Amino acid sequence: MWDIECEKALFNIRTNLEEVDKAPVITETTVTTQSVKLPKNKFDFSHRLPDGWKSTLEVNDIQWIAQSVFAGKGVLVSELKMWWYPPQLPGPDIKTAPVVDSYFHRRIFLWMPRKMWAFDFKCPNPICRNQSSLTSKGLYNRVRSVIDIKDRYYLAAEYLECRTCNKTFISYDSRLIDQLPENLRTRFPIVLTWKFACDQSVVCLMRSRTLGNSPTAVCNDIHELQTEEWMRKSLRTSVTVNVNNKVWSG
Ligand SMILES: [Zn+2]
Repeated sequence: MWDIECEKALFNIRTNLEEVDKAPVITETTVTTQSVKLPKNKFDFSHRLPDGWKSTLEVNDIQWIAQSVFAGKGVLVSELKMWWYPPQLPGPDIKTAPVVDSYFHRRIFLWMPRKMWAFDFKCPNPICRNQSSLTSKGLYNRVRSVIDIKDRYYLAAEYLECRTCNKTFISYDSRLIDQLPENLRTRFPIVLTWKFACDQSVVCLMRSRTLGNSPTAVCNDIHELQTEEWMRKSLRTSVTVNVNNKVWSG
């Protein structure tokens, strides 16, 4: 059951993670070689993203998401899937300067039951009495950050509207998710609150409320696991950059 303690726990996770986010970020500019200064006009795919996505995605995730998920400006690729993963990390024997940002990408989850499975949502507004079908209003103009056990990922959704009452709905609205059959509904892996979002696996950790397994303890565990993962990525990056620096310096 989701209760107020869980919400407090999420808030604490968010607070703690903000501290993690404030940890020194190694940016691409720290690698001072010409090989990472790519011509913008050829390799800049950011114009494909909705403006709201650009402002809610981390800067280092904009390019790969724009290139992988979008075929053109505001147009999704035809073969849609729910989970999108960033490009594989470059191998340890790469000959060019590593792009440091590529070690810190996040995956993205698309929740678009109407677009992907042509599901016929009905307007949940009492005026329409579940009679009027919702129509597509495009993509929801922002993505949300979801807390997972070891990292975070993005949640992106579609926007729907009722042409009878002119109300709009986001596809992860619980009134819409409840309309789905179980085999589709259970594909949505996220627990949402007004402000926060976390993966169900985090909530599962809170089920066993035995002595010592308080929401605060779970928060601390998540914080520690995410910090460890961030440190692991930092170490991997540092080692690769150092190896390359040695190669370049001869
Ligand atoms: Zn309606």
